[in-house]
Amino acid sequence: MKTWAEPFKIKVVEHVRIPSEQEKQAAIREAGYNTFLLRSDEVYIDLLTDSGTTAMSDRQWAAMMIGDEAYAGSRSFYRLEEAVQRYYGYKYVVPTHQGRGAENLLSKTLIKQGDIVPGNMYFTTTRLHQELAGGTFTDIIIAEAHDPASLHPFKGNVDIAKLESVIQKYGAERIPYVSVAATVNLAGGQPISLENLRAVRELTNKYGIKVILDAARIVENAFFIQQREPGQNGRTIAAIVKESCSYTDGCTMSAKKDPLVNIGGFLAVNDHAVYDEAANLAVIYEGLHTYGGMAGRDMEALATGIEESLHDDHIRARVGQILYLGQKLIDAGIPIVQPIGGHGVFLDAKAFLPHIPQEQYPAQALAAELYLESGVRSMERGIVSAGRNKETGEENKPKLELVRLTIPRRVYTQAHMDVVAEAVINLYARRDSIRGLKMVYEPKYLRFFQARFEPLT
Ligand SMILES: *Cc1c(COP(=O)(O)O)cnc(C)c1O
Repeated sequence: MKTWAEPFKIKVVEHVRIPSEQEKQAAIREAGYNTFLLRSDEVYIDLLTDSGTTAMSDRQWAAMMIGDEAYAGSRSFYRLEEAVQRYYGYKYVVPTHQGRGAENLLSKTLIKQGDIVPGNMYFTTTRLHQELAGGTFTDIIIAEAHDPASLHPFKGNVDIAKLESVIQKYGAERIPYVSVAATVNLAGGQPISLENLRAVRELTNKYGIKVILDAARIVENAFFIQQREPGQNGRTIAAIVKESCSYTDGCTMSAKKDPLVNIGGFLAVNDHAVYDEAANLAVIYEGLHTYGGMAGRDMEALATGIEESLHDDHIRARVGQILYLGQKLIDAGIPIVQPIGGHGVFLDAKAFLPHIPQEQYPAQALAAELYLESGVRSMERGIVSAGRNKETGEENKPKLELVRLTIPRRVYTQAHMDVVAEAVINLYARRDSIRGLKMVYEPKYLRFFQARFEPLT
């Protein structure tokens, strides 16, 4: 079958409202031109994030009814543990309230003061936890990842030579693990190939260094491997996911992404000593190691979600919808990151608004304008998200200055995608009228969530 049509039909609907012109004007001003600070009632189509915004299936809702809420040794924990072992192949599992909880446990367990953590581009919460534990992140992604126009099929790949030179420069003892994300969110949802994962494993084995996977979008990553990597087309998504995990020593998981639930996460590892330490820390930061901040019913829905996420027809429809939106924008001449990513379409704000310098937050301004244009909510992924240098306090200036249109899983229809495309195309036609912003409030940590702006006159 050629079509990407959804392998489900709709049983329950949630009404949405289109805000008026006046409402949008008032709302964005009130929100300090930061789409994170809008209320969802003020939004028509919400593409802020694919995190926790999934529509669960009838099977998942049914699973919630049989969740076991025992404080210790919940049956639902064992079901989750079994799903993680079966589908990802890791031995030990610590549930956490979401992905960053797992990042905290992992960073505290493995990183010591002065360590270096190489990664294929940073992720906001991941890097912050590495730094809070005393480590310093260093980027080892291939150069093509920083070029929005490069058509490299695996822009999430690690530059193996760069990784080796980092190891030689600092010494293996100072590198607790290599952090590998699949797909790479900040590069535009770009995948890493199986071949590259295997090469990372071989190199790190040589030096006795661990590899930890950020598995939040491992299923989307597997879809791109299946479609693009030579020799992978006849394999199932489940087989590719399991092989991907086999090249790593553990993973942090935000279950709010590919595993199809609204909240939750886990840390999974193969090393018993690492598990022991993390399970002990879980008691301080998350909850007992058999629930880690999740209700029994949530673990039950997650176990079912993991299994559903690995169906080939599910992921083909999931990514197919994003490719549909992205292709519409490409056909209209809109500058977006290519190839189109796995969880959203990323507008290239530098090319969209060449008249706004990066210090005036072009992607932030574009996200605010898209809301005013259409009631569609998107998110900045550029200089605001990149924050400040840990040592100098200067603003990091990433090459990529993007607006992310993130598509929730199983939530919106093709007609909604048409509305979004039309809004972006209209905005592009009047792009010269868009002005930059100045930041008037800057929080200390992860500033993009709560920063406030005013338009420049
Ligand atoms: C969302 C996300 C995280 C953090 O997970 P939370 O569940 O939001 O805490 C980590 N890494 C990646 C790639 C993510 O997308």
